[in-house]
Amino acid sequence: MSTNKPMPVATYISAPFWDGLKDGKILMQHCANCEKWTFYPRRHCSHCLSDQVEFREVSGEGTLYTYTVARIPTLPEFAGPEPQLMAVVELDEGVRVNTTLVGLTEDEIEIGMRVKPVRAVVSKDGTVLLRFTGVNVDLDEIDEVPKQPDAPLVETEAAVRQIPLSDDAALQSLVSEEFSPWSNQLLVDQEMINQFAELSGDNYWIHTDPERARKEGPFGGTIAHGALVQVLTSKLKVDLGFEITGFTNMVNYGSERLRFPSPVPAGSLIHSRGRVKSIERSKRGTQMILELNIHVVGQERPAVINDLIILYM
Ligand SMILES: [Zn+2]
Repeated sequence: MSTNKPMPVATYISAPFWDGLKDGKILMQHCANCEKWTFYPRRHCSHCLSDQVEFREVSGEGTLYTYTVARIPTLPEFAGPEPQLMAVVELDEGVRVNTTLVGLTEDEIEIGMRVKPVRAVVSKDGTVLLRFTGVNVDLDEIDEVPKQPDAPLVETEAAVRQIPLSDDAALQSLVSEEFSPWSNQLLVDQEMINQFAELSGDNYWIHTDPERARKEGPFGGTIAHGALVQVLTSKLKVDLGFEITGFTNMVNYGSERLRFPSPVPAGSLIHSRGRVKSIERSKRGTQMILELNIHVVGQERPAVINDLIILYM
């Protein structure tokens, strides 16, 4: 879900492998001395230590040696709606490749099954990772470059409960421990973070300098400003299932509690959900506390907790 995912850094020894993937080829090192294959790329044959190794194209077909279903993301950057299907594939040439399975459900995966390579394009610069799927699956390439999801559909006829402001019992019935369904999803990318840095004047490197944030920051890359994520509430359409009627004025009275418990790495998809925490009458009017929480998609811990005070008069 995130462009903060670690990306391969090609060395001069491994560059042919990565360049090959970009060109649609799988290149493995073959030893002219002992005729065996080596992976990952290195200077010497891993069997006989000869330096007579050269890259040759292989089909990439093989068998599934082993796998695991990682339901808890191995890094926060890998959090997503689906668990990671991590695997070791043994190519027909005998080398084993650490990889991720795609295009397969958990119950379709079996150790020893025949697998074939899938090119996964993971970044705008064309970086390709080698993933695998079942030989019978119609999949050769997938696009994993993070993109802005489609805008939410505007409801033409809202099937919402109309609650008159004067109806105490109906108002109190809105108070709930249960959260609404999730809103639409929104991509928070580096470009958006840069724009907010410009606008707010907060251009601290942890937000705006991906290279430094990768090397020195605690999150492996840049993160969005908490304040940015908070204001994105307006772009996340939460369907609370009701509509208050019969008031003359509604104001945003601020927040009773605002917390940023977890970071939003650049390139994350976020979504939101809400619940009515309390409704009270006061001299000012009727005050509703709406708890709106924003999460990185797939993350249990919210990135923003906002107890929004809405005043109806
Ligand atoms: Zn050798």
